[in-house]
Amino acid sequence: MNQTAFYKLTYGLYIISTKLGEKDYGCVVNTLAQVTASPAKMSVAINKEGATAKAIQKSGKFVGTVLTETADMNLIGAFGFRTSEEYDKFGAFDTALDPNGIKYVTEHTAAYFSCDVCQTIDLGSHILFIGEVVEADNLLAEPVMTYAYYHSVIKGKTPPKAPSYQALAPAAEVAKPSQWQCKICGYIYEGDTLPEDYVCPVCGAPASEFERV
Ligand code: FE
Repeated sequence: MNQTAFYKLTYGLYIISTKLGEKDYGCVVNTLAQVTASPAKMSVAINKEGATAKAIQKSGKFVGTVLTETADMNLIGAFGFRTSEEYDKFGAFDTALDPNGIKYVTEHTAAYFSCDVCQTIDLGSHILFIGEVVEADNLLAEPVMTYAYYHSVIKGKTPPKAPSYQALAPAAEVAKPSQWQCKICGYIYEGDTLPEDYVCPVCGAPASEFERV
């Protein structure tokens, strides 16, 4: 199989959020899509091990928001490379509540879709949720982020739990001496010593989250 064939698929970048009890959950995906028009339904595949997928299985509801090109690694890193279990992903951003009371980010967001889960399909590593759209609206009138723009302009990474993740060829990462790797997102820093006040440019993690490769 030619893995690069998958690069030809076009995606956007989205935050999926839900609420369980008093706790808010959210993660970044590239897999949100409209699948029917009447009634309007959407599909989204989310990694099973993630806190957000587990929470949606129980809450039966989610909000999908469409990120704009202005979204930076502060936002994408917070939602894409950390876990909702031990970190308040929404704390640093402007948010609103959908009709189901689920919090969603309104910054760098072009539109939102409030969905009730009507079907779930276990895909092994991921769960495919089908949701009926109960509310939707536009937010910012800005160009939306594509996955290609995220990789080429934002220089963003794909976390290992994403469906589209492809491991780097080992040879590309091995031979270089003195590398430090971010345990959160996998970013590699090159240098003999890692500055104490270093902050990961991808996910915002502090130097203490880095380990020598
Ligand atoms: Fe990082």
